[in-house]
Amino acid sequence: MLPKDPSKHAEYRRKISESSKRKVISPEARAKMNAGRTHFFSEEHRKNLSESNRGNKNALGVKRSEATKHKLREAMLRRLAAPSWYTVSSIEPKVHRLLTGVSFEAQKRIHRFVVDIFIPVLNLVLEVNGCFWHQCVQCGYTDKYGVRARDEERRKELVQMGYEVQVIWEHELK
Ligand SMILES: [Zn+2]
Repeated sequence: MLPKDPSKHAEYRRKISESSKRKVISPEARAKMNAGRTHFFSEEHRKNLSESNRGNKNALGVKRSEATKHKLREAMLRRLAAPSWYTVSSIEPKVHRLLTGVSFEAQKRIHRFVVDIFIPVLNLVLEVNGCFWHQCVQCGYTDKYGVRARDEERRKELVQMGYEVQVIWEHELK
């Protein structure tokens, strides 16, 4: 619950202004930005998560049937198509606070998508991704449901339409 932390504000301001200059972030700058980040789950928990995901077995070690796997995938994709993670009441104010002083539109429709935040002056789309719903790599999710491919398709389409796309992850808002 720390987005009041002014260093995080500075981080996003930097992200946004770097986008506006269309500069590539240097590896040194990226390392610096990453240095302050912490994982949502402990090392041990993430290890357990990835182990329990291995081999498509459930928590009891029973192999899932094809039908169950199909159902899980459908449920995951339906949830992704539902109103964005961004609108979860605890997340929205945190993101707005990060954008203090920046003119933006929330839940903006662009073509067939509704994006979380659009900053017109920068032609920049900010996607606010829940780590579970978007199967975050850093938090140890293994993307059994093909969510990442779907996100990547969306990103590519937006980029093709001329928008810049940046992602804010849930774990970055902790
Ligand atoms: Zn994450």
